[in-house]
Order: sequence, then C-alpha cells, then structure tokens
Amino acid sequence: MNPRNRLNFSGGPGALPESVLLQVQQAIVEVPEVGLSILGISHRSSWFAAVITELENNIRQLLGLPENYHVLFLQGGATQQFSMVPMTLLQGKTAPAEYVHTGYWSGKALPAAQREGPMRVVWSGAASGFRQLPGDAELAFSAEAPYIHYVSNETVEGLQFHRVLGRDDVPRVCDMSSDFLSKPCEAQRFSLIYAHAQKNIGPAGVTVVLIRDELLRDELLRDASTDLPEFLDYRTHIKAHSNANTPPVFAIYVVLLVTRWLMQEIGGLARMDQINRSKAALLYSLLDRSEGFYRARAEPRDRSLMNVTFNLATPEMEQRFLAESLAAGFSGLAGHRATGGIRASIYNGLALPAVEQLAGFMEDFQRRQKR
Ligand SMILES: *Cc1c(COP(=O)(O)O)cnc(C)c1O
Repeated sequence: MNPRNRLNFSGGPGALPESVLLQVQQAIVEVPEVGLSILGISHRSSWFAAVITELENNIRQLLGLPENYHVLFLQGGATQQFSMVPMTLLQGKTAPAEYVHTGYWSGKALPAAQREGPMRVVWSGAASGFRQLPGDAELAFSAEAPYIHYVSNETVEGLQFHRVLGRDDVPRVCDMSSDFLSKPCEAQRFSLIYAHAQKNIGPAGVTVVLIRDELLRDELLRDASTDLPEFLDYRTHIKAHSNANTPPVFAIYVVLLVTRWLMQEIGGLARMDQINRSKAALLYSLLDRSEGFYRARAEPRDRSLMNVTFNLATPEMEQRFLAESLAAGFSGLAGHRATGGIRASIYNGLALPAVEQLAGFMEDFQRRQKR
C-alpha cells in the first residue's frame, strides 16, 4: 500500500499541515482573491507585495521580533547562508569567528567559513559520534570573535539545544532550519537567524533570514570584500524587500499560509511548543520503556523535539522495521544516509494522532518480535 501523507515522518522536505495543503491545492488552480494560479502571478503585482508584507509581519508577531530586525526571504537554502554569513561578517577580520560543531549540518558550515577568514571550532562532538551537545562549562567563547555560529537543532543526529548559546557581547548567528517557528526562540538575543523553509515551515525554495540592523553598520562591514557579488549582499535584498529578482512566489505563499495556520489554528508558538513537546514525549517515553529494544541515539538532556533518532539491535532488524512501517502506511522513517538507524521527524505539520499511530505501530512491532 502507498504511504499516507499524514504519516509522513520525513526529515525534509517535511510534512505540512493538511489545512494548508488544501488551500495550496486551490491556489494551484486559482488564488481566490486574485483569480490566477499561484504559479502564474507576477512577483511585481501589488498582491504579491502584500504577501511579503503580511508574511514579514506574521513572523515578527509570532517571534515578538523588534523593529530593528530585517526579515528577508532569500534563495540558495541554508547552504548558501553557510557562505553568505562569513562573506559578510568574516572577510578581512583577524580574530576568528567561533563555530560549535555538533553534527552533520554544523559541520557543513565549517569549510564554508574557512574559505572566507579566520575561524575556530570551539567544541566538536565528532570524536564521540555526535550523541550529545556541550554543556556551558565546555564552551569558552572569546569576547574578540566577530561572531559565534551554531545550529539550534541537528536534524540528522536528533540533538537540540534547549538554551541560547554564546555571550551577549558577541553577535550570535544561528542556523534554525529544522526548528524555526516550532517554539518561541528568544529571537532578540540573536544577531542573525537563518532557516530554510523545507523542514518545518513550507516547501523548499525560500530561506528566511532575520538580521539585526546594527550587524550591517558600515564600520562592521568595512573589511568585507568590495567585490562581494551584489546578489550575495544582504543589503541588496533589504533594499528590494526580498524582491531583487524573481523570488519563489509559490514557496513564499505557502510559508504565509503556514504562519496563518500557526496564528489562527494553533494559537501561537507557545501553544505549538506544547503540542510538539507532547508528540516528542510520546515517542521518547516509548523508547525508554522498551527495555533496550529501541535505543535512543541522543543523550536525554539534548534530545530533539523535532527529530527522534534511534536504533534497533541490528541493521537487519532496522530494515525489517522500515519495511513493515512502510507497509503500514508510514513514510520517511529511515535515518539520514550519514548515520543510518531510524529517525522520526515530527515537525509542526505532523499532527499528534499520527505520532500516536506510530507509537502504536512501534509497540506492536516490538511485541511481535518477542513471540
Ligand atoms: C537540512 C538542513 C540544512 C541544509 O539546507 P539546504 O536548504 O538544503 O541548503 C542546513 N542546516 C540544517 C540545520 C538543516 O536541517
């Protein structure tokens, strides 16, 4: 049998809320208030300008983001931000930027930074297989660093920081691609936040960037290369209101629908957080009760509320689990190719009943192996 969409536990692109998908379905044919398909509406139309404005305001409202932040919708994914950040903030600097290496994705940001200027890895979990995150005592951040960079949720390993890292006198830069808008995040403590849409808030094609205005002051940028391509300069996109060239109109519209869903149907990020916590608690308590049948990958303290990663006793048993779960209608449960194992991604769009159904399947699978 084919998998069922509401049982899509994919790590990314992630599941989107059903009520959003129904609106998208309608919009593909015709956006009601416009009379045109979303795929054929001009990015220069006043309707699309209003979409950008509403989405920006929704993100500000959801996060309580102050006026001194720019909200940008860019292309190139989180990967382009791995380079754009150091191109802007690191070129020409003598003190190293400080990077925290907690897993697959924070590791991808390191070589991109190294190309642009001095950088230092403050802590790396590589030697211990990225099963835990550093405590504050293990992190000595320098006051001289141009910025610190970390990933709030390591999507592949299933590790999530449940606190804000760094120091208040050094700009914080954070890749929140896989937990953005899953909970309140104290955005005003960060100088730059980036998050592509396709894990938690929409389809691939758009990346949200929040930048505190002071970060782009001329004194701070004076060392930056003057031949930075215009398109890779944040200021280009600020001036153009995220409409410098043809933006991904469709992806941006879907993210707008997701923010409306968060505000009107869910009731804000604190409520979203509660729901996400119940979903994660259901799965982690099942793993912990399984007497070693299911082995959680991450240290309890650092467990992700978005990506629940675990192993079974043998790779063969994991293959059987995946085959049977697929036959039962579940999709996307295979771990990332870098780690193997099982990963249940329970992003905002995945509803509690789907997680209950997975928990039921897992208990039943365990029972059946014992017979
Ligand atoms: C998936 C992911 C990325 C990669 O994003 P792209 O948009 O594919 O470049 C980067 N960071 C994190 C935390 C991710 O989960």
